[in-house]
Amino acid sequence: MSRRTFKYRIYPTKTQTTILLHWLNVCRYLYNELLADRKNAYDRCGIGVNYNQQAGQLKYLNLGIHSQVAQDVIRRLDKAFQNFFRRVKNGEKPGYPRFQGKNRYDSFTYPQSGFTILDGGKLKLSKIGTIRMFMHREIVGTIKTCTILRDGDRWYAAFSAELPDPEPKEIKTSVGVDVGITMLATLSDGTEIENPKTLDKYDSKLRKAHRDLSRKKKGSNNRNKQKTALAGVYRKVRNARKDCLHKASRILADTYDQIVFEDLQIKNMVKNHHLARSIHDASWSMLINFTTYKAEYAGGVVGLVNPRNTSKQCSVCGCIQPMPLSQRTYRCPDCGSVMGRDHNAAINIKNRYVPTDCEELTPVEMVA
Ligand SMILES: [Zn+2]
Repeated sequence: MSRRTFKYRIYPTKTQTTILLHWLNVCRYLYNELLADRKNAYDRCGIGVNYNQQAGQLKYLNLGIHSQVAQDVIRRLDKAFQNFFRRVKNGEKPGYPRFQGKNRYDSFTYPQSGFTILDGGKLKLSKIGTIRMFMHREIVGTIKTCTILRDGDRWYAAFSAELPDPEPKEIKTSVGVDVGITMLATLSDGTEIENPKTLDKYDSKLRKAHRDLSRKKKGSNNRNKQKTALAGVYRKVRNARKDCLHKASRILADTYDQIVFEDLQIKNMVKNHHLARSIHDASWSMLINFTTYKAEYAGGVVGLVNPRNTSKQCSVCGCIQPMPLSQRTYRCPDCGSVMGRDHNAAINIKNRYVPTDCEELTPVEMVA
């Protein structure tokens, strides 16, 4: 079985919005209280507090929200701690789970029940009411959870649905994909997929919105308004990028049975602190995620390979030569072949994939 998320915009009334905001506040408050409890128990007595112990306390609190939504808050806290401990175990130095500020806690989840999608696409939430929802596409699979999200002044409902694994199809076409900055992707057959041009357009808007915000007085009404405006620009950027990545992944999944990328988790072990670069990193991971679920849904395969020397190696004879980033053409000193730098890399990526249960091929996590 695999999971897929379906996200729709919802249109709560003013009264409903007040309730939703109140619930977010209650969840955040609960999260912070439970986090403080865990921290105190550990600091003072050296004992750990777990999910069951905290869930047992919920019935004594008169929170006024759906009980399962409250339980999910503990689950989130649990997850934060599990991540923390896992990273400590791996020898990293993670930050202790953080208290959540007012603008950071943006969603709550009905983990099992308490929500119904009515005919005509309205969403009925237990203890909140029936909210208008725009379902631009149908949900496939069995719905498991419903998460209500706030993004600036907009609201969304995200449903996680479980799907049976599709029948694998016969692999007839295979492609290697080199992700990049000038081109979003260069394929081993020479096709190039451009980065969204729309993003440049938002660049100056984003800078202006930031500048405007810094000029507003702290705590003022105008500052809050500008914050909402800034979140709006960010949302547009995010949506434009996502839209482009959805289109690109659709092309890949529809055209090829087997799609091979570099394993970015290995590649990213080289730390890079440039903001522009980190935005690209996020886009590339998203492209791999989107392609993975689209391909798997169609019975195809997405493979990940070790990125070592994919740019430096000649895809014809295999010899390796230094390739500084500025060098856009690969000219092989041994066999004399000449081709675009990224095209050469994409062919290497394609050729490296060995379709077995190799341990180094880590499956890509689905986007939440
Ligand atoms: Zn060569």
